[in-house]
This record gives sequence, C-alpha cells and structure tokens, in this order.
Amino acid sequence: MANKKIDIDPGEAKEAILGYCRKKGALAAGVADLEALERIAPAGHRPSDLMPRVKSVISLGVGGQTQGAWTLPAKAMSFFGSTEGRAYTIAYGLAFMIERQYLERSVYCPPDIDPELGSRVPLQSIKLHAELAGIGARSLAGDILLHPEFGYMYFASVFTELELEPDKPMETNPCPAPSCTDMYKKIGQTPCMKFCPVQCLSGSISEDGKQADMKYDMAACAEMTQQYETLATVLAGAMNADTDEERSAMLHRPENKTLWYKMSVGSGGLLAQCFECMRVCPIATRAPLADPILRAEAALERGED
Ligand code: SF4
Ligand code: SF4
Repeated sequence: MANKKIDIDPGEAKEAILGYCRKKGALAAGVADLEALERIAPAGHRPSDLMPRVKSVISLGVGGQTQGAWTLPAKAMSFFGSTEGRAYTIAYGLAFMIERQYLERSVYCPPDIDPELGSRVPLQSIKLHAELAGIGARSLAGDILLHPEFGYMYFASVFTELELEPDKPMETNPCPAPSCTDMYKKIGQTPCMKFCPVQCLSGSISEDGKQADMKYDMAACAEMTQQYETLATVLAGAMNADTDEERSAMLHRPENKTLWYKMSVGSGGLLAQCFECMRVCPIATRAPLADPILRAEAALERGED
C-alpha cells in the first residue's frame, strides 16, 4: 500500500511534476481530465482498465524533428524513425520521481499495442491524453496533434494515484493555418492532403477557416509507413515462392534488404517512416518554437544563453 505519511500540497506537487518534465527536456506537459478520459476512451482502453486506482494522467511532449531533418529527401527520412523514445524516457523517470517524492503509486503508461487486439489497437490513446491535457490539438493530417508554439511533438504519459488538478484542452486549434485555408480555397486540398504520397487524407474547411471534417485512410497510411507488417508479407512471399530465384529476390531485393538492416540496428523507422504530410505543414515546420534553431533564436532574443 502507498505510504500516506507525508502532507502533499497538490498545487505544489503539480508544479514540481510539470517542472521535472520541462527540466528533463519536455517542451510541454499537462494533466488530462481523468473523468473525461474515462468517458471518451473505449472500454478496455480507459486509464482505469490499466491502473484501477489511477487518479491522474500526466501527458508530456518532446520536440519533433530538427530543422535540418526536414531538408532531407524522403528516402533518407525513412531511416529517421522518430524521437518518441526521448518522451518515453522522461515519462519513465517521472513515474519514479513521483513515487520517491510523494509516495504514491505511479507508472509509465505503455505506449504499445494491445497484445490481445493486434497491431492497430493501442493499449491507451497517448494522443487523447495529450489532447485533454491541453498540449496538442487534432489536425487535418490524420489527427496528428499540433501545438501553436511547438508544432509537431512526440508524446508520453504517466498514470499516478496522486491526485492533481486537471488542465483543459487547448481553446484554439492551430490547424488549418491561414496559408492552408488559402490553398484549400483554390484547389480543395491543404498541403498535407496534396502532398501525401498515397492520398490518404481528405477533409473540408468551413467558411470561417475551421476544420469541418477530416478523413484519414489509416490502412493506406499504414501500408506506406509501418513496415512491421511488411515483414510478414515478405516472409510469406519467400516461403510461398515457386523457385529459389524468386525466394532469393523476395528476401534480398534492395527495398526488402533495407527492412533487415533497419531491424538489425533497431531503427524506429520500422514503425513510421513517412513524414511528407508534416514536411509541408506550416505548423509542424514553422511554428515559433518548432525546432532547436528556432528555440535557440527565441532564447537569444530573450537574452538567455
Ligand atoms: S504519414 Fe505519409 S502516408 Fe501517412 S498521412 Fe502522412 S503523408 Fe500520408
Ligand atoms: S498542412 Fe498542417 S496546418 Fe495545414 S491543414 Fe495540414 S495539418 Fe493542418
């Protein structure tokens, strides 16, 4: 049982917890409204389904790509994977920090798929946690969360039995950006829709420049981006090949050899390797603090080192 021998000021505790996240490298952090999460998340994927006595869900986001990364061609970006590991490291440390400092049970929320439901169903929606914690809003690019200052981030969550005051979702959504609305008026598509290589994004923008509806063909995007399912196809093709030549081609042609390479080096690029919708997104790439150069320039302007 958790030790209740210490007095905890919930306001101070929240400040210390969010401060820990920022000190460790998170750009944004907040507390999601647990009641809302329990109401919105489907049965089996509510926070209490994983941690029965959970009282608070803390969400944090780390920065996305460097400015230089966006200049690379798509074939090089396919090796980038992502930086979500950094977010997970902070969340993992935060769970330890809360238990050590406040003696309340805490756990890093596993961002993984539900082993009972296959590769399209996560244990929890880290995205929903972040949205309700007010550190990102759903975009027309397949609901990728965007932040008006930090652009595109990677998120992680912590569950705790420590009760913390929840934050509110963001009041305004930076997507669509004014330039995206202008493009939509001219061609009926925003940049993310136009430049998606498999055309899996569509939607509409209202007269007052807000998202009216968004459609995302998850299967088409996944076929393009999530290569762990490609591995099974390659292996099945090799096993079912009629000749040794066909089997060898299936296993060793250049694009398939790349898969073995990525596996051998543990590249996150197996999980998501297409960044084209974000490469052309003005919020992801040009929000005021979207990358380390922009953040450093802003710090210099504020007179910080
Ligand atoms: S990740 Fe690639 S395939 Fe998926 S929506 Fe974005 S551009 Fe399209
Ligand atoms: S390019 Fe970015 S800001 Fe523009 S509509 Fe797409 S996701 Fe929204």
